[in-house]
Amino acid sequence: MESDCKKYLTLSGLEPLVVTPESNFVNVGERTNVTGSRKFLRLIKEEKYEEALSVARDQVDGGAQIIDVNMDEGMLDGVYAMTTFLNLIASEPDISRVPVMIDSSKWEIIEAGLKVVQGKCVVNSISLKEGEQEFIRQAKLVKRYGAAVIVMAFDETGQADTYQRRIDICKRSYDILVEVVKFAPQDIIFDPNIFPVATGMDEHRKNALDFFQATKWIRTNLPYANVSGGVSNVSFSFRGNNIAREAINSAFLYHAIKNGMNIGIVNPTMLEIYDEIPKDLLECVEDVLFDRKDDATERLLDLAETLKGQKNDVEVAVLEWRNKPLQERITHGLVKGIDAFIVEDVEEARVLAQKPIEVIEGNLMIGMNVVGDLFGSGKMFLPQVVKSARVMKRAVAHLQPFIEAEKDGKIEFAGKILMATVKGDVHDIGKNIVSVVLGCNNYEIVDLGVMVPPEKIIETAIKEQVDIIGLSGLITPSLDEMVYVSKEMEKQGFKIPLMIGGATTSKAHSAVKIAPHYSHTVIHVNDASRAVTVVGDLLKKDNQQHLSDLRTSYDVFREQFLSRTKQKEYISIEEARSKKYKINWEQTTIVKPKKLGIQVIQEFDITKLEEFIDWSPFFRSWDLHGKYPNILTDEVVGEQATELFKDAQELLQRIFSEKLLGAKAIFGLFPANTINDDDIEIYDENGDIQHTFLTLRQQLKKRAEVPNIALSDFIAPKSTGQTDYMGCFCVSTGFGTKALAEAFEADHDDYNSIMIKALADRLAEAFAEYLHKEVRVNHWGYAADEALSNTDLIKETYKGIRPAPGYPACPDHLEKQTIWKLLEVEQQIGVELTESLAMWPAASVSGYYFGNPEAKYFGLGKITEDQLIDYSKRRDISIEDAQKWLNPNLAN
Ligand code: SAH
Repeated sequence: MESDCKKYLTLSGLEPLVVTPESNFVNVGERTNVTGSRKFLRLIKEEKYEEALSVARDQVDGGAQIIDVNMDEGMLDGVYAMTTFLNLIASEPDISRVPVMIDSSKWEIIEAGLKVVQGKCVVNSISLKEGEQEFIRQAKLVKRYGAAVIVMAFDETGQADTYQRRIDICKRSYDILVEVVKFAPQDIIFDPNIFPVATGMDEHRKNALDFFQATKWIRTNLPYANVSGGVSNVSFSFRGNNIAREAINSAFLYHAIKNGMNIGIVNPTMLEIYDEIPKDLLECVEDVLFDRKDDATERLLDLAETLKGQKNDVEVAVLEWRNKPLQERITHGLVKGIDAFIVEDVEEARVLAQKPIEVIEGNLMIGMNVVGDLFGSGKMFLPQVVKSARVMKRAVAHLQPFIEAEKDGKIEFAGKILMATVKGDVHDIGKNIVSVVLGCNNYEIVDLGVMVPPEKIIETAIKEQVDIIGLSGLITPSLDEMVYVSKEMEKQGFKIPLMIGGATTSKAHSAVKIAPHYSHTVIHVNDASRAVTVVGDLLKKDNQQHLSDLRTSYDVFREQFLSRTKQKEYISIEEARSKKYKINWEQTTIVKPKKLGIQVIQEFDITKLEEFIDWSPFFRSWDLHGKYPNILTDEVVGEQATELFKDAQELLQRIFSEKLLGAKAIFGLFPANTINDDDIEIYDENGDIQHTFLTLRQQLKKRAEVPNIALSDFIAPKSTGQTDYMGCFCVSTGFGTKALAEAFEADHDDYNSIMIKALADRLAEAFAEYLHKEVRVNHWGYAADEALSNTDLIKETYKGIRPAPGYPACPDHLEKQTIWKLLEVEQQIGVELTESLAMWPAASVSGYYFGNPEAKYFGLGKITEDQLIDYSKRRDISIEDAQKWLNPNLAN
């Protein structure tokens, strides 16, 4: 007994804190955390450390027995902030009487904290995430600094999300700590992961129950170890509904403590007293926590809905601008994109107005005009405008029933615009941004979504009497679809402008391929910020002159373009083949993949992808141009980029913690040889031909020594007698995107609906990058000792390439079908190809792997008539079809 007394977790600030079995639950204050508190973040950023200290003081005064300090924010120098803040705390006895929890995901920040903190602190956290070696190294250091430690239930393969994984990882960590590191067991605090409940996803149903059971197991089977967790996460899906959140948090805490959790990060203001939770609510909550009923989540959601708004839902300080006159408040809300008060303000305006419609035409339009002016003069950027639109939409949604109740209550719009992503195409980020921006400028938008058949576009345009049709598409075959729609519009005698946009579209394509088929106006708009001006000009009264000028300018552009293309010289496909890129195969060592054949990843922990994300294209999708991370401090767009990035980070962390997106991948590595110059044969293990990839060859006339390349040049020809290898893959992180985007849209939240798609796209590219690395280093293994940073990966400085069908080196979309057949992509991981060979879900990437160190990207340039004929024979399709599936390459 005597010796056991020492086996209690004992921490200290200026005063000791001993956690005995008789102690009450120890609560950790969480507000001194830059990721959890905006206020604290702002204070630290602005170096207002005095005020930041008062946040800590409030925590201690409020009863926190430990304070968690976290400085993990991209824009902060975490080491500096941690050191400074802890040093300051040390001279504030009313704060430093309690122990500190040094919280960071970066070891260097933790170590910086350990160096200066006084007393015995807790490190939050270490885990097996990076493997045993790193775990042991960190644990030894923690021990040497004399701190206690939180161990996350996390291992090399990811977070523990089941009961079994939780206890397995905790047991393994415990054994290593106690036996190898000789860590005092009472100084170990396990965090077995508190995940959100009632998310609507089946795999989350046992989240609370598994936590309770794992806690009990740890406290029974791992002597002297403690259990902790971050409580508010459990109610994350009820953000905005404090009554529901408080009830869930307290009921969870109550049962977690009963099962042995003895420490926890809690926000005392977000806890209802367990005994005071209304009985019906408590029952629903506990049904969810214990997964007691199949419909528990639905019932809790329904009940929560009725509770919403009873208490002050939005936790906001009384703000200065709230005291201003009504119109100023409405305008402020719109310009700043703050939707917390808009319904309240609009309601006030409605009561004052004669008719509810006046609030839209008056108050809201005044505000939106300010937004329009700021945007027009470059003082506001797209993401902000989309946020303003969210406020506008919520305001209009509130007014709608009142307007409809009136006899002639109709909103007067400046024009009606049909927007659609064409048949076979699934991409709509750009289109949605344009729609939102136009919507803000008082245009009525009829958005038909993605994969819209031409008949539906025509039919809706007639029925709705729209003023403009806007078509969008990302992949090459969509260009053909647009041509088709323009011909139909001509046939049906349409007299309205046709607006073209999307990644593969161009002024050249619109002028050369579309405009000749349609006698009214065709205009290319690829920049959402220009859309408002363009549409305004198109719909101006008495603008015949403007329209005819536009037509003329497109005619002139076309002629210049066509005459320019004639100047370049091309060689025949035969000649091009004789000038192939030559690799000396006799002196090439071909590395045989460690594992041949197909491998599938059905479940993947997407948190691993975070470090592989290339953020620059993310900003581009919001029309903010520049390279990450410099864009964050850019003189012009820096502030905007920073805010956008912060919102993106928030949603990304939510995607991670709530597991909102599913990720799957498939890839294969096969024996392969080139035959007939341009085809690549893929063999099975017996050497039988499984599939043949067709490649295309550059035909531009070049100097004698410059080759005309095809991808097949990077694979050993069969005639060399050497077996070479090639791979292909498909990854997707888009499972769940559609439902999420729709949920946001139903909530009038286009901003997050666009954001989730943009993030899913980023994760898909990151997954492709991650998998490519795994292939180079492990599965194929030709670059086993590669050591590249994320920046290197983004620059693609590695050996080998992963060209993607539809891109410049291989503009042939039909090759996706070959990949799909070879890997059985759809059957195995559920990624489909649309009729235009777009991948669905949209956040998917596919391509080939070439391992030869000489393999490089190149552009095909124009494909001339003879290669087109040759190709259509090789592929056994008509020349017209061949043209459709290959990039038209108007740029050449
Ligand atoms: N880091 C970028 C990666 C995508 S773009 C992002 O996150 O968005 C780069 C990819 O496009 C390459 O990996 C390759 O798959 C494809 N690609 C680029 N140039 C290509 C070319 N000339 N031919 C074929 N594919 C190409």
